[in-house]
Formats: sequence, structure tokens, C-alpha cells
Amino acid sequence: MQATRTIFHVDMDAFFASIEQLDDPSLRGKPVLVGYDGPRGVVAAASYEARAFDCHSAQPMSIAKRRCPHAVIVPVRFERYREVSQRMFAIFDEFSPVVEPLSVDEAFLDLTGGEKLLGKAEAVAMKLKARARAELGLTASIGVAPNKFLAKLASDLRKPDGLVVVRAGDVDALLPPLPVTKLWGVGPATAERLRLVGVRTIGDLRKRSLDVLNKLVGGDADRLLRLAHGLDDRPVVCDREAKSIGQEQTFGVDVSAPDEIRRVLFEQVEQVGRRLRKHALSARCVSLKIRYGDFETISRSTTLKEATSGTAGLWAAACGLFDAWAGQSFRPVRLIGVSAAQLSSHGAQMSLFVNPADEKQKRVDAVADRITAKFGASAIRRGRGLS
Ligand SMILES: [Mg+2]
Repeated sequence: MQATRTIFHVDMDAFFASIEQLDDPSLRGKPVLVGYDGPRGVVAAASYEARAFDCHSAQPMSIAKRRCPHAVIVPVRFERYREVSQRMFAIFDEFSPVVEPLSVDEAFLDLTGGEKLLGKAEAVAMKLKARARAELGLTASIGVAPNKFLAKLASDLRKPDGLVVVRAGDVDALLPPLPVTKLWGVGPATAERLRLVGVRTIGDLRKRSLDVLNKLVGGDADRLLRLAHGLDDRPVVCDREAKSIGQEQTFGVDVSAPDEIRRVLFEQVEQVGRRLRKHALSARCVSLKIRYGDFETISRSTTLKEATSGTAGLWAAACGLFDAWAGQSFRPVRLIGVSAAQLSSHGAQMSLFVNPADEKQKRVDAVADRITAKFGASAIRRGRGLS
């Protein structure tokens, strides 16, 4: 086993709903549902008062309203949440040089070796919580553990305003009674497959042999068994370390038809989107690189409102940059390239930024990715009129 690490998983409590209650005192102590109040609306966040009525995020708004008819429904204000999120990450940065964002309100911090500098892990976590309360007016739940899996599990055990320290010695008492869905990567489909052979808890899973599990979950069995024993080697990956993902192409001759360049650019955007999705990354910055026949090279960048891995969003940005350049100063092009940067791994909460159109787009992307994986990139050519 590797040297002991100290990892924090910090998760703000009912982030969007808490911000709404912070900004509007009349909402405090009341059940609040954040989201679009329409027939296809989805709950983006529910305050703890609403959770008492079994309302929760990702639930259709119509169901949440039935469960808690007196809930106050407020629209989503991404700009405001992002602003608070940035201040929150600035605090995280003061505690550790290695911060891995999982979503707007959630991150892993690697505190390994920090004890000499900052004090004992538990005291450091309390300090972080105190700063979030004082400077943001919000509560955080923190899990402290020797690895990411246990830290994330721990932060969820005593929400809201929780602080749970899990040590290697706690694992054998803590994990066995928990449902297998607590294991990272076990979704409803895998859970169902396991349930059919009587595996409901992590303890049940531990009792099965690798061979038996291999038949059930394929190549994932070893990883699941290790998690079931509280072992997880994944490093905390600093956002800054993530580079960019890009594609470029040099033409044999300078291309002077903008439409021809747009066509190539679109294929590049599709490839970039595919690679982002494959690595579960989202990008906030899209850049265009254009080289002329005389080797002069220019670049144009734009920052997106929301990080995305969707082809449509990436294309809108890249095409916008291209058209702005082409409209003003078009010259024949020798090389065209596109890259996505400011990458972050997308956590579960990112999926709450959905509206129905995004959801549809995600399904389109997922289908395209599956076809490409099976038959190669030439198998699929999408229209460029992606909405
Ligand atoms: Mg949260």
C-alpha cells in the first residue's frame, strides 16, 4: 500500500437552495425548490426543509410539488451560483495546492503532508467549514479519509454541516452494511445485476469471489472488490494540470472557401467533443487556430458561460469565432485547428444544469459516440444545424 494520504471531499449543502435562502431571508426555514416551474421542469436543488417531504434534485418538478405543495419555487440563477462557487474555490485554494473540482459545489482537496503546516486534518476541516460559513454564509459537509472513495462517502454521512473522518481502521465496520450503490461506479443497472444474485450490500459483495463477480460485472470486478475493501488509488488531479484537447489539420493547398473550412472545423469539433466525453471532461474555453500560407498564425478564444462537453455547445463557440474572423479578415487558410481548454471533470451535479434541450443534445452525443466507437468516425456525419 502506498503512503497514507489525507484527502478531503468538500460538498456544499443544498448549494443552490442555500444560496437562495441566503439572498432572500424570507425563504429561510421554508421548503424551497430551485428549478423551472413548468410541465417539464426538473428540481435543480431542494432545501433541507423540502427534503423532509422527500423532494430532491433531479426529480420532476410536478412530483416535488405534489409531495410538498407549500414549497416556494424559485428559478435557477446560474450566474449567482457560479460567482459563489468561484469564491468557494478561492478558499479551497488556500487550503491545498491540489484541488480537483467535481462540480460547482464539490471538490476533492489533497491535504497530504499538510498536517505539519496547517494542523491535524480534523482541525483543518473545521477551519474550512468555519470560513465557508463566515465568508460565503453557507454550510459545507466534509469527508476526511485516506482516499477519494472514502472521503466522498464520508462527506455524505452526516449532511448537512457534517464532518466525518474515516480512517483505514474504520473501513471494516463502516462499509459492509452500506448498499452496493455507494461504490463509485455502481449505477442502477449494475446494482440490479448484483441484486439478482443476492448482492445488496458492500458486505455481500465482499463475500463473492473475483471469478463470480467477473461474470456479473466484467472487467470492473477487481476495482469494485478493492473499493468494497476501502481501497482506491486514484490521485486527486489538479484542474490546472489538465491541459487542452484539440485537433488540427494542415491542407495541401491554401483553402479559400469558408464553407470548406467550416466543414473541416465541424469534424474537428466533433472529435474534440468525443474525446472530452470519453474522459468525462468539460471545457470552458474554446480556441481556434488559423494559419495562412505564409505561416503567419493567429488564434481566437472564447470562454463559455457553462463548461460543456456537448458537440452543439462547442460548435456554437468555434463557429462563432470562425465567422467573426471570416467576416472581418478572411484570407485563404493553410491550417485550421480547434482546442478545448479549462477542463474539469464533470461531477454528478453538473447534470443538474440541464434543460430539456441539453438533455436531448446529450442523448444525441451519446448515440453518436456509441456509433463512432463501434464503426469509426466515418460512420457518422451529423448535420451542422445542431440546435
Ligand atoms: Mg452539494
